[in-house]
Amino acid sequence: MGYSIAIDGPAGAGKSTIAKMIAKKKNYIYVDTGAMYRAMALYLIRNHVDPQDMEAIKKACVQADISIEYQDGEQVVLLDGENVNRYLRTEEVGNMASCSSPVPAVREKLVELQQKLASKADVVMDGRDIGTVVLPKADVKIYLTASSHTRARRRYLELLEKGEDADMEKIEQDIIERDDRDMHREHSPLRQAEDAVLVDSSDMSVDEVAERILSLCR
Ligand code: C5P
Repeated sequence: MGYSIAIDGPAGAGKSTIAKMIAKKKNYIYVDTGAMYRAMALYLIRNHVDPQDMEAIKKACVQADISIEYQDGEQVVLLDGENVNRYLRTEEVGNMASCSSPVPAVREKLVELQQKLASKADVVMDGRDIGTVVLPKADVKIYLTASSHTRARRRYLELLEKGEDADMEKIEQDIIERDDRDMHREHSPLRQAEDAVLVDSSDMSVDEVAERILSLCR
């Protein structure tokens, strides 16, 4: 096991931005676990699997081949050998991911992949269940959150920047629904681990959040 930093929290709290910064500063590998759930969701969308059909999701999960590679320090998710990174960050895929992520077969498959990555390198890993389930012995655990309004605004700006259409109210509504599903599912729900440090980034800059986490590592 290498050194590990676990960052959990709801959608749009800034986990990936912060995790990337910390990984770069410390020369660790950034593991984006949401991208793995999103790749599984993309597979389901492409194969027209009904998000309510648990059996169909389970079956698809066995068929989908998901693996991770690092190219120039960036995580690349391969779905059946294809680099699918550019398809993962849409609202459609994110919403599908939160419908398929409660399925135990999906979680078992992806948690195994995540633990394997952490066993080979020093990592900053972000997600929903990293401090509670994936890396319960992580050296530093952070629960990063912000108000739903702040988080919706950030997602909105992120989408605009990419040239995508976005409706701020719809995004906030989606975020609230997604958090509700993530926090109330039976398996590995989103919650703050007992030994995690709570960081509310609503009124903090990215640099302030990063500095706070780096000081916890020290
Ligand atoms: O973080 P991101 O928005 O990319 O995650 C997409 C979805 O994947 C989440 O809403 C959640 O349902 C699921 N997820 C999860 N466990 C993780 C990471 C993501 O269940 N460790």
